Amino acid sequence: MSKKKDEKEFDETDILVNKGKKNDKVIPVKLTGNSRFKFRCHPKVRCFTACCSNVNIALPPYDLLRLRTRLGLAADEFIKQYGEIQILDKTLFPVVTLKMRNDEKKSCPFVTPQGCTVYEDRPNICRYYPVGMATLRKVDAETGRDEFYFMTKEDHCKGFEEDKEWTIAEWRVDQGADFYDEMNRGWMEILIKKKSHGQGKPFPEIKNEMFFKMSFDTDYFRAFVFNSTFLEIYDIPAERIEKVRTDDTELLRLSYEWLRAVLFAEETLTFKEGAIEKRKDQVDKTMRKVYGQKEKGSIGELD
Ligand code: SF4
Ligand code: SF4
Repeated sequence: MSKKKDEKEFDETDILVNKGKKNDKVIPVKLTGNSRFKFRCHPKVRCFTACCSNVNIALPPYDLLRLRTRLGLAADEFIKQYGEIQILDKTLFPVVTLKMRNDEKKSCPFVTPQGCTVYEDRPNICRYYPVGMATLRKVDAETGRDEFYFMTKEDHCKGFEEDKEWTIAEWRVDQGADFYDEMNRGWMEILIKKKSHGQGKPFPEIKNEMFFKMSFDTDYFRAFVFNSTFLEIYDIPAERIEKVRTDDTELLRLSYEWLRAVLFAEETLTFKEGAIEKRKDQVDKTMRKVYGQKEKGSIGELD
């Protein structure tokens, strides 16, 4: 890849990876996991919690799941109370961001003078800070991804004056960001795919709604798996089905696979033998009820 391409500007989809005002104070140098920086954040820094106001914090599905589980809220309750829905310009997909308080500083709803009240379940963007990760601008033809890091250096942040040195890879592990990335990766890949798939061409509203509901409402997706014909259609190993019943992380992985199958017709899930024909037959019967007793085949191709 040419140098020029590597140096493109950050774009609006970096809302998903950057804690701060859009592109504000981002140092435009592409970093890797081996890049080193000096930083430490602790309750005794003069600026403690200064970075927890007036910020854009996107909540990918796993981030939202962790927060709402901690607060004992259903997905829709959490989104109503703490979320804002934003439409990404490049993908036109609706995503959730954290709604700041309506106070003078526009503080995060979880910040107190003593620090973050949801620290163990804080969003991934907060874990990464002051590092940011970009994944969406360019797509590698083979892996479907291109990840790199960048640094956000805001004047108020005194953490850079501390002595502790890290590589970005060490920082990610220390903050638990590596696990969050793994849990959200399949979902980020859906955004990447949509961005490169008929860019600028909107999906029908029903597909956007499905993306939103199945991404963020894990309870709804679980009910869909177990209370619909899902398990009659898809060939899911019994062991996995049992895991999906109780394990939210496995459920999320399955929802990403299903979304890729229905949004982009990717072969992420295998159909059970005869399931497609059986389904076509059912649709055919329904259509004949609606349009009258025509011969099979005269109704047209159904999918
Ligand atoms: S979630 Fe916690 S760390 Fe993140 S901005 Fe809010 S208070 Fe700060
Ligand atoms: S501004 Fe920097 S040093 Fe201060 S609390 Fe936030 S991350 Fe820590």
